[in-house]
Amino acid sequence: MSRVYNFSAGPAVLPESVLKEAAEEMLDYRGCGMSVMEMSHRSAVFKGIIEEAEADLRELMGIPDNYKVMFVQGGATLQFAMIPLNLKRTGVFDYIVSGSWSKKAYQEAGRFGDARCLASSQDGNFSYVPDLSAIEVSDDADYVYICQNETIYGTRYTTLPDTKGKPLVADVSSCFLSEPVDVERYGVIYGGVQKNVGPAGMAIAIVREDLIPADDLADVPIMLQYKTYADNGSLYNTPPCYTIYLCGKVFKWLKEQGGLEGMKKINEYKAGLLYDFLDQSKLFTATARKEDRSLMNIPFVTGNDELDAQFVAESKAAGFENLKGHRSVGGMRASIYNAMPTEGVEALVAFMREFESVHA
Ligand SMILES: *Cc1c(COP(=O)(O)O)cnc(C)c1O
Repeated sequence: MSRVYNFSAGPAVLPESVLKEAAEEMLDYRGCGMSVMEMSHRSAVFKGIIEEAEADLRELMGIPDNYKVMFVQGGATLQFAMIPLNLKRTGVFDYIVSGSWSKKAYQEAGRFGDARCLASSQDGNFSYVPDLSAIEVSDDADYVYICQNETIYGTRYTTLPDTKGKPLVADVSSCFLSEPVDVERYGVIYGGVQKNVGPAGMAIAIVREDLIPADDLADVPIMLQYKTYADNGSLYNTPPCYTIYLCGKVFKWLKEQGGLEGMKKINEYKAGLLYDFLDQSKLFTATARKEDRSLMNIPFVTGNDELDAQFVAESKAAGFENLKGHRSVGGMRASIYNAMPTEGVEALVAFMREFESVHA
């Protein structure tokens, strides 16, 4: 067996120890004689798995009691609709558009109400986070929405916008659990799990209780109502059991890394290795504005499309997978999520240095 260094933006690298543990438990989960994939979601064993996962997540993020944690199928993209559908009171939704994901969320919200774009960085190909001091929150906004880390362009918010008392909704898909968060600053904090937490197909939504409609929303499908998940501990129907189980293992792994404080230090160190190299490189340049640089997704270019393609091909041959950039930025992108080992980033920098010495 040989594992590559996988720089995929998602689905992405998972901690090796987690995968090994899952492999060991595949045929017989802790003496119950079956895989977690095969057991009833109503069984006591699975109840233990989902409750422990939630408890560990609450501990890691310091989630207050007045927030619900929900495991929801449909990935982050389904949340683009569930958020306006569930938070709708006046029907005015404010969005800050800092990349493709917030743009998609904004467009989806427009199907359900008056979605307003407060600021956008599209004019600069989303290479920066818009000026937050210039935003004017609508008086009657139901919420203000951001994508905290734009996966494709490699930008992140280092400060949160002043929402003038309106609930802040944040998509944290690509920075989930990468550093500590103050959950109380958000009304909703959510993400698809396949970037930084587990297998694809599920989102975790952490929603302040007062934002969850108390009554059934007659015109919203039952599976799209937060109330359904909140009232039933995410077990109204069969949840993605195996995904929840693996996420739970990743939460345990994160606790071993020193929780989110520990993870942040590791992530800053790893990202620093790559950015420091890029900043002095004669061949490669990072594309995102320095102040807004992501710790997780790092796009870079040589400025020459052919050379970029050559770099991607040669890096692949050397065991570095998925470094090709997204088509809307071009060049390369290294996604260095929590589970990317420091050695992977060190090896990548060494490889880039070597490539540079031949081509610069
Ligand atoms: C990947 C991604 C999404 C989409 O996630 P799906 O689970 O595929 O729906 C949304 N937002 C961000 C920031 C992402 O990185």
